[in-house]
Amino acid sequence: MKNRILLGTGNAGKIKEMRFYLKHFNIFQTFETLTPSDFKHLSEPIEDGTTFEANAKLKSNFFYGATNLLSLSDDSGLMIDKLNGYPGIKTARVAKDLGGEQKVIDYIFSKFENEPQLKATFHCSIALIGKDKKLICSGKVQGSIIPTHRGDRGFGYDPYFIPENNSKTFAEMAVEEKMILSHRFNAFKILANQIL
Ligand code: IMP
Repeated sequence: MKNRILLGTGNAGKIKEMRFYLKHFNIFQTFETLTPSDFKHLSEPIEDGTTFEANAKLKSNFFYGATNLLSLSDDSGLMIDKLNGYPGIKTARVAKDLGGEQKVIDYIFSKFENEPQLKATFHCSIALIGKDKKLICSGKVQGSIIPTHRGDRGFGYDPYFIPENNSKTFAEMAVEEKMILSHRFNAFKILANQIL
């Protein structure tokens, strides 16, 4: 039977990017990739870690424990410099509570009405956990967020985030352009180096 790897997330945007990176870095290419939706009754763990690393580890431990499959999870988020890293590990939760990314952006800019953009960092930690494997790698990308969305590609805060030395938001870039600049790319690059 073909080896299998479980991408431990229900976020379609992340799944798409994780598949891209596995291919790009030529890792686990002989494996069948599964997601939680391929299993009946597979829930998601409560993310109660205090760091991105801890949450990525907690998710992969959960999925490995539930399926016995090599599991790869990602915990990521946006950190605003002037808000001491808010919303950080709570990025997904805050969007849910406030009613979407635009609402979060409106809330953030309501505190800095005269700023056309705000410095921010995207952070990503990934954890690969299996029988004899435990690897946790992190990456980040610095840039700025803008108050109004631009572009229609990507997911989450992509339409609001402009990486450093660029003029386009992630959502205005061709898929391959974002992929090689992103926080997730930087985390996968480290993972690939450790595996190969
Ligand atoms: P979590 O890792 O499931 O807790 O969710 C992280 C949240 O951060 C996502 O739901 C997105 O809103 C945001 N996020 C993480 N990575 C990206 C990205 O590459 N582009 C846009 N938003 C992202």
